[in-house]
Amino acid sequence: MTILLDGDALAAMHRRAIRAEAEAAGVVPRLVTILVGDDPASRAYVARKHGDCAELGFDVELVALPADVAAADLLALVARFNADPACHGLLVQFPLPPHLDQAVVQAAIDPDKDVDGLHPLSLGAMIAGMPALRPCTPQAVLALLRAHDVPLAGRRVAVIGRGLLVGRPLAVMLADRGIDAVPTLLHRAAPDLAAICGQADVIVSAAGVPGLVTAAMVKPGAAVVGVGITYVGGEMVSDIAADVAGVAGWVTPRHGSVGAMTRAMLMRNLLAAARGA
Ligand code: NAD
Repeated sequence: MTILLDGDALAAMHRRAIRAEAEAAGVVPRLVTILVGDDPASRAYVARKHGDCAELGFDVELVALPADVAAADLLALVARFNADPACHGLLVQFPLPPHLDQAVVQAAIDPDKDVDGLHPLSLGAMIAGMPALRPCTPQAVLALLRAHDVPLAGRRVAVIGRGLLVGRPLAVMLADRGIDAVPTLLHRAAPDLAAICGQADVIVSAAGVPGLVTAAMVKPGAAVVGVGITYVGGEMVSDIAADVAGVAGWVTPRHGSVGAMTRAMLMRNLLAAARGA
């Protein structure tokens, strides 16, 4: 029997727990999101994050800037919120228009307010084993696997995709003491993706290639997590082909799951930032 890695239900549980923690601590976190341009997908992502904040009783502020905003103006705004003690978490929604350098903008955010956990200092602290806000999607994947009792210690984990948002930090976190998994980080130049996946106890695909992981690549009983999503003709398509459900021991549904959990981890980071943890 294949167990569904239901992130939507798990995220609802996390939201209830985070709300209770914030209330017990007497803290009302405040998230500021800067949105540049009017990309409909970005608007939808921001609306979901702010919807979660509303459910938790957290404050939000949306600053919408025109697509042609000058880099200096965007950076000045970031600096203003960095200095504002009423702002606990600061997000700049990516992707940015091509004239803006995402790495420069990310690095301009105060690491203590970097609730995405993607500031170079946050990522460096993670590798050094120091306390820092950690990237939300890798945290989401680990929470999803743990909540469903997927064994990780000493298990082979194939991570597909070396992006900074998901694959690269996830591979580091999987190898942490206490998790003790044995990750292999795969990417476009991997010569034997199918063979390595075929030996893995857990496969996490964060490539953004529709149907990249097929049943033929999956060891029977392995856990398979689809992070990568692609919009094809307006439809959201997973990296995980539909036939994987017939072979895997655990599998994410083809929609949702990791997205809802990613936002729940964002709320966790926001609460931690507001508490100065
Ligand atoms: P990215 O573009 O930075 O990285 C993609 C990686 O996939 C690259 O390292 C590339 O080498 C690898 N790749 C591409 N095609 C491949 C192939 N055929 N074989 C092996 N490797 C291949 O992307 P990212 O920002 O890390 O995001 C990864 C995916 O996860 C995207 O689809 C993104 O939309 C999705 N995502 C989903 C959530 C969520 O909440 N569900 C959150 C974040 C990202």
